Amino acid sequence: MSVVIGAPTAEFETQLPLLIVGAGAAGLCAALAAKEAGVDAIVIERDAVPAGSTALSAGLIPAAGTRFQRTRGIDDRPQRFAADIQRKANGEADPAVVEAVARGAGPLVEWLADRHKLPFDLVDNFTYPGHSALRMHGLPSRTGQELIDRLRNAAEANDIVILTERVVERLFAEPDGRIRGVDIMHGDGTHELVGCDALILACNGFGGNPDLVRRYIPQMASTLYFGHPGNRGDAVVWGDKLGATLLHLGSYQGHGSVATPHNILISWAVIMQGGIQINCDGYRFSDETRGYSEQAAEVLRQPGGFVWDVFDERIATVARQFEDFREAERAGAILTRDTIAGLAEAMHVPAATFAAEWRDVESLKLAGGRDRYGREFLAEQSCKPPYHAVKVTGALFHTQGGLAVDSSGRVRHNSGTKFPNLFAAGGAAAGVSGSNAAGYLSGNGLLTAIVLGYLTGNAAAGQMLR
Ligand SMILES: Cc1cc2nc3c(=O)[nH]c(=O)nc-3n(C[C@H](O)[C@H](O)[C@H](O)COP(=O)(O)OP(=O)(O)OC[C@H]3O[C@@H](n4cnc5c(N)ncnc54)[C@H](O)[C@@H]3O)c2cc1C
Repeated sequence: MSVVIGAPTAEFETQLPLLIVGAGAAGLCAALAAKEAGVDAIVIERDAVPAGSTALSAGLIPAAGTRFQRTRGIDDRPQRFAADIQRKANGEADPAVVEAVARGAGPLVEWLADRHKLPFDLVDNFTYPGHSALRMHGLPSRTGQELIDRLRNAAEANDIVILTERVVERLFAEPDGRIRGVDIMHGDGTHELVGCDALILACNGFGGNPDLVRRYIPQMASTLYFGHPGNRGDAVVWGDKLGATLLHLGSYQGHGSVATPHNILISWAVIMQGGIQINCDGYRFSDETRGYSEQAAEVLRQPGGFVWDVFDERIATVARQFEDFREAERAGAILTRDTIAGLAEAMHVPAATFAAEWRDVESLKLAGGRDRYGREFLAEQSCKPPYHAVKVTGALFHTQGGLAVDSSGRVRHNSGTKFPNLFAAGGAAAGVSGSNAAGYLSGNGLLTAIVLGYLTGNAAAGQMLR
């Protein structure tokens, strides 16, 4: 991946108005927005069928003030959502970008539902950590596969061209940073030089590039990477060479609940509904409800690098709305026993220690108290037999640092100016999670993919039509 400052050695074979690198949620929303504004974008995608990390996700998008919330009587506003994002990010996220995504998410979820026929509804049976309202919106299967498939259908219905099995390898730029075009490698190894009036980088972060992970997030270098392997940090590499401002490169979304050895995501609903995590010595070790992202490192610090999620049948019923959980059950990852002693035996953890932890938690639930880590328990979270346990580990889901952008996704230059025709969205742009994993509020990934995607497509098209 490189950048050539100046003209390419050969002429551009084609000149296009708007090119988008990457056909994940960010790239497809950018293309749909540009189309709506009157500009035809061409999307370049490495894979044969668009998938990206979007397809691996649960497809849940946080949004405030939607009609889906209103019909359930939930009073929520963008300002409240923005405050939740900044609280989790320790105030480190760019306020202008936070405001743009918090304000944009509600109308965009409705736009996707009404204009592009994505049948969203509200996840109304548990609150994700750090959100002060029920605001997670999902599709019927609660999968990112459904989200990407429906976005691709919408793109196709709008005659958006997605060129697959092509990798953008080089960018050509003027000395002032204006992007002139790109070098695209086709699946058969041939190259094509394509000029463009504007470029949107929607090729996610660097989770799939072990060298960059080692350099910027060394603590996760030997951890399971659970995102899309084709996200190799091209935006960061190009941005670095172009003099773009790179922000919060040590920040990432982790997850502390991936079934092992099955490698299936176990929804954090099992924790938020009253489940706990127990290490192989039978002890709890943290306030699990702070967030699943920071919990990845916490779980990896435990003996053996794994722990057990423990919960009951009521909680399993809530978790079964997720296809991943149902798949984990089919794969035999979930143990079920009628007693905690029976579960301890199946988990091979010290029964007396585990039973004492379980008793403490259940008494705290009845009393409505806080534990030694500050976690609050509620009476309605009490667990009854049969009990379940699943062995889980921590994983790196995607990186949150990237190209610093303004509130329309325009990339910032180290000189303090902005690039005239370069935009970034989704995981290619610096997110709204601040400098570390603890700053990731559930849903920040798709939030910046959908909203910055739309805003970049709209801004790039608007600039062209002026
Ligand atoms: C297991 C898992 C669960 C998750 N669950 C959620 C969730 O429920 N809610 C949420 O908000 N977030 C979630 N996330 C995070 C979320 O998936 C990402 O933040 C989001 O999908 C990023 O979208 P994107 O469009 O930026 O990237 P992607 O969807 O990864 O798309 C990027 C695309 O760019 C292509 N590409 C890369 N480089 C090039 C190149 N040089 N040339 C051509 N193509 C290229 C890739 O092939 C890929 O298709 C989850 C992540 C994982 C891994």
